[in-house]
Amino acid sequence: MTLPVSQMISVEEARERILQLIDRMPSYLTPIDEALGQVLANKVIAPFDIPPLDNTAMDGYAVRASDTQGADTHHPVRLKVIADLAAGYIAEQEVGENEAIRIMTGAAIPKGADAIVPFEETDEQSQKLPEKGKLQTHVNILKAANKDANIRFRGEDIREKQTVLEDGRMIRASEIGVLASIGLTKIEIFRKPVIAILSTGDEIVTPGEKRNPGQIYDANTQMLAALVKQFGGIPLVLGIAKDTVEDLTLKLRSGFNADMIVTSAGVSRGDFDVVKDVLANEGVIDFWTVRMKPGKPLAFGTFHTATGKTIPHLGLPGNPVSSMVAFELFGRPALYKMQGRSDWERPVIQAITQDKIVNTDGRRFFARCIVSKNANGTLIASLTGPQGSGILTSMSAANGLTIIPEETPHVEPGEPINVMMLDWEQKLF
Ligand code: AMP
Ligand code: MG
Repeated sequence: MTLPVSQMISVEEARERILQLIDRMPSYLTPIDEALGQVLANKVIAPFDIPPLDNTAMDGYAVRASDTQGADTHHPVRLKVIADLAAGYIAEQEVGENEAIRIMTGAAIPKGADAIVPFEETDEQSQKLPEKGKLQTHVNILKAANKDANIRFRGEDIREKQTVLEDGRMIRASEIGVLASIGLTKIEIFRKPVIAILSTGDEIVTPGEKRNPGQIYDANTQMLAALVKQFGGIPLVLGIAKDTVEDLTLKLRSGFNADMIVTSAGVSRGDFDVVKDVLANEGVIDFWTVRMKPGKPLAFGTFHTATGKTIPHLGLPGNPVSSMVAFELFGRPALYKMQGRSDWERPVIQAITQDKIVNTDGRRFFARCIVSKNANGTLIASLTGPQGSGILTSMSAANGLTIIPEETPHVEPGEPINVMMLDWEQKLF
């Protein structure tokens, strides 16, 4: 087979080329309580005002503000109580001059009233209340009310026909609340992509199975499946393929129902790896050398199935740290795009490095680090120990990745560096 000429490309170029070939999933109608974490495919229009009527923000008395002018504790204004109104009901009576309606939070403002005096500003507490179910005949107002006081106005949250949520919005608990508030039961969202995950290599053994000397347990499959789940996809584990054309072809094709296939290992210059040949046989796959560390070798392209389907393929390096960092930089954006999301960029902060970081081979260095605040409130970045791409514990201890530029051969302790925060979901600044 002939491999395309491998070329050193930047992280950005690799990501752009990947995203170009990634499509959004089709959308479908789903109950809003099943939409958490998924993305709206259509904008949502308000069918009516929220709140639907002017209503009270406090328990108290609905009054005419002008009746209460001059009221204070020494000169209370005495109003006649003509009704008691619970939330959910509309008053039949109109509040006339020197009258009040006792009212509960959320109840519609009665006709005639233009302010709510909260209980605390009346003598209700000190009055001997009539027996339950009966209303006291009068109330003393102890403080003058301004017009509109404690009134929530019709439409002050959402206006009829207004766009409540734009398409592309991720559904969080607050969006579910907003959708419920306009009475919606179903929304159109993008389907979760199914991501097939295949590990390759004769030396790789599934955890739980017998491991011979010279073999290692498969860290990548379950790690990548967890990442897929964490970022909104559905993992489809294909298992481990031996380094033979037959096994690899068979296992790979078992993932042809998925929306994307992620493989790990076999994309570097290993003599015994047949991965490249098989990948190239099944579609159009490019093998790249990305200007980054860890995770230099990367394969990307599309498989073409016998049924005429095209499936994007991301071929990650085998070393678990490289695999995870490459998934973070390329897999996560792809997964987001499939879900209709574009907010894959992580927040990048500036921190002071505690360590000397050497970076002499012209690649962008994503070293694993832990960012913390020191006593002065300064953000400090410390490397999580040895940075070999097989040292997965360096990733487990980290909350961020340094971004040491390609052209920076070293940074000294005390110098500021950029760090991409892994545990923060969204770009904030
Ligand atoms: P390769 O790209 O096949 O040369 O693999 C690079 C390194 O990653 C080798 O040391 C492999 O043993 C290791 N490796 C590959 N796949 C896995 C895996 N699924 N879990 C843990 N280590 C792996
Ligand atoms: Mg291998």
